Amino acid sequence: MATKSIEINLPDFIGKVFSYSEIDSTQVEAKRKIAQKCPVPFLIIAKSQTGGLGRFRRKWYSPTGGIYFTLTTKPVNNPAISLVVGIALVEILKTIIPERKFILKWPNDILADNEKIAGILAENFNNALLIGIGINTFENGKFNSIPCDENSRNEILLKFFKKLDFYFDKFDQKGFPYFLNKYIELTIPIGAEIEIFAPNEKITGFFSGITDDGRLILECDNKKIKFSNGEVSLRIG
Ligand code: ATP
Repeated sequence: MATKSIEINLPDFIGKVFSYSEIDSTQVEAKRKIAQKCPVPFLIIAKSQTGGLGRFRRKWYSPTGGIYFTLTTKPVNNPAISLVVGIALVEILKTIIPERKFILKWPNDILADNEKIAGILAENFNNALLIGIGINTFENGKFNSIPCDENSRNEILLKFFKKLDFYFDKFDQKGFPYFLNKYIELTIPIGAEIEIFAPNEKITGFFSGITDDGRLILECDNKKIKFSNGEVSLRIG
């Protein structure tokens, strides 16, 4: 796996960039590097993945033409950080590709015209935060995609990292409450019918908002139930 520098100027907060034409998984490579004491921050970016991962170790289909990377930073002791990453990404996709309708599906999927187009996987590992992202920008494939050439992919990366730099500072200063209204604006409408899949049960109800620490609120039989990300999956009704 040869490494070479990526040909765009990414902001300094990202640290060292390790770039691959193909890798098993950027998330797994980031963990290997951390286990070898590689200092954070750093970025692993690949043109394709042979074993890309989603949440709960589900497979993430990652052919050439997509965008795949894991950003590692100092640990953040607040799981809502991953929702902020989603806001930054959806805002950038909306400005670069205005013809598609992007929304956030809690906690961390991005849909374009109601079908998944990107996924975010945030994990703490050995005193570091790993933010893995896959975006479907390939030409032809098994899933919904927004085909992009290399210039557009680089534009997405550059704008996304700039926004993330700004949002990480804000998150440090003000926490998730600063982002709550943005998240609500970018996700499914309040009152939408949803199903929550927990390990041993399925609960049907209505989307009733997000707490100021990033949990989803479902209303069911006049009760409000809150779910943390990492525990459950959401289906939109
Ligand atoms: P959740 O809503 O809990 O995130 P999910 O089924 O969307 O559940 P993820 O872990 O986010 O699960 O993503 C993995 C799943 O997404 C796979 O099981 C597969 O069904 C689908 N998938 C895999 N690769 C892609 C891709 N490139 N684009 C869209 N969907 C994909």
